[in-house]
Amino acid sequence: MTPAPVNLLDLDEDGLGRYFEAFGERRFRATQIIKWVHQQGVIDFHAMSNLSKALRERLLAEAEIRPPVIESEQLSADGTRKWLMRVDSGNCVETVFIPEGERGTLCVSSQVGCPLDCRFCATARQGFNRNLGVAEIIGQVWLAARRLGQTPKQGRHITNVVMMGMGEPLLNFDNVVPAMRLMMDDNAYNLGRKRVTLSTAGVVPGIDRLARECPVSLAISLHATNDELRDELVPINRSYPLAELLDACRRYAASNPHGEITFEYIMLKGVNDTISEARALIRLLQGLPAKVNLIPFNPFAGAGFERSTDVAIDAFRERLSRAGLVTITRKTRGDDIAAACGQLVGEVQARARRHRRVADAAHHAA
Ligand code: SAH
Repeated sequence: MTPAPVNLLDLDEDGLGRYFEAFGERRFRATQIIKWVHQQGVIDFHAMSNLSKALRERLLAEAEIRPPVIESEQLSADGTRKWLMRVDSGNCVETVFIPEGERGTLCVSSQVGCPLDCRFCATARQGFNRNLGVAEIIGQVWLAARRLGQTPKQGRHITNVVMMGMGEPLLNFDNVVPAMRLMMDDNAYNLGRKRVTLSTAGVVPGIDRLARECPVSLAISLHATNDELRDELVPINRSYPLAELLDACRRYAASNPHGEITFEYIMLKGVNDTISEARALIRLLQGLPAKVNLIPFNPFAGAGFERSTDVAIDAFRERLSRAGLVTITRKTRGDDIAAACGQLVGEVQARARRHRRVADAAHHAA
């Protein structure tokens, strides 16, 4: 039986280097492949003219370059694009591109569904099915770049990547990190580490590991200023309460002194949007190199929450700004195609069962 082909999209520079060394090729083959695939968008080994014929034959026989497949593409009136990407016969994930002036942000998924059970999030409602592999994560970037016509000549469309699509990236650490390394690789997408942001609901051991292994920009989905409310809204808080989470943020900031941490705060009417909560947030973030992103809640059927009023959001932002916290209100983009934060649902084969409790999932990440 011939072994399954190695999908070279699963490997970052280090992985490819080891792959080539294992059969006596030089490590720089890794750079050549990365340039072909990620810079030029070429995935046909025949076209890789700087590889020897013998090497091309070998790759044709035992390797492949297989991205996910675009199932559908939607374009919003505001220019936002959403792709449904098929990752296997039963599962799709969503990827969103948000253009804004010179900036183009790609919002990438890390899991099919999500094991965390954040009350206000549409992805949570479908349960968790599985982690995405490296190829399925970087493949979203590869496909988006191709669909946008990104080539070295035409210039780049994707200037930033945020791991804010479906799933909790720190619960899929081993696949998310090589994918992010490719995003930052000079020979691939060449994004500086300030332009790659990982957003987490608060998997504390994962935050420390990220600081050691791949210190990209960090965003924390905070959403509440006391444990009682956060336990309800973001149940992983029961495993890693606010004090522990903020300590981890302080450690991250200390080991990564040039980066600010973004705190995301969803604005839920009558739940977390009063001025006394703004004051509590100011106290909580004191001493941290923090900025705040207020996210007006994006509704979906059966959500059970309402968006705060514009007046409440403005007053909240105003209060934080007066205390010297850089605060922006995130614009809702792609609303007409359900591409806004928290509206991504993809498509999962069977309604995934929650095999294990949130706490277990969290401990697996450690
Ligand atoms: N699991 C990661 C990344 C995915 S969610 C995390 O929790 O950070 C990306 C952001 O969208 C998070 O801040 C999340 O809390 C927010 N979000 C989820 N549902 C939302 C909704 N319905 N409206 C607005 N923001 C939402």
